[in-house]
Amino acid sequence: MSLLDIHVLGSPILRRDTLPVQQMTTELRELVTDMFDTMYAAKGIGLAAPQVGRSERIAVLDLDKQPLVLVNPVITLRQGRSRREEGCLSIPDIHYEVERAGKVVVQALDVDMQPITLEGTDLFGTCLQHEIDHLHGKLFLDHLSILKRRQAMRDWDEEKDQYPDLLRRLTPEEIARLAAEDEELDSEADEHQRTDVR
Ligand code: ZN
Repeated sequence: MSLLDIHVLGSPILRRDTLPVQQMTTELRELVTDMFDTMYAAKGIGLAAPQVGRSERIAVLDLDKQPLVLVNPVITLRQGRSRREEGCLSIPDIHYEVERAGKVVVQALDVDMQPITLEGTDLFGTCLQHEIDHLHGKLFLDHLSILKRRQAMRDWDEEKDQYPDLLRRLTPEEIARLAAEDEELDSEADEHQRTDVR
């Protein structure tokens, strides 16, 4: 298992478009495995390649113990609107409500480069849109009003010093802290459904 460093807000790669994957290789399969390991350790439900400093058009998701790899995903249909609180592994501890399409249809390739079509509503729909945004240099903050974005940037100013070189390193201490936090959230899950998108 290898954990990758997560690039945080301010790292230029988060703002770059990705390149479509032409061919699945052993190296890219390893990247996918490492992305899952990193996402699970960070207690996220989605992670896109730019977040680990890579420029391939690949994202991984796992909402409910159903690991999903999206290669070259494209949103082919957006319907309705919905609002949901989002967070991001690249912008730790900042959460805002974001308005997005209520339903999306996504066409992508799986890890074997076979075509897949996914339909997403609710948390899954939000997560698909959040991760596909990452593959085009876009962050959830971009969907906020100017005032809210300014507030978010002020919040981030207080957080960012924790991340030297704009990298979030998943040290054993950090992983233990996140696991404890996650357990706490799970115990609250009966009352409040967890809606974090990362
Ligand atoms: Zn994110």
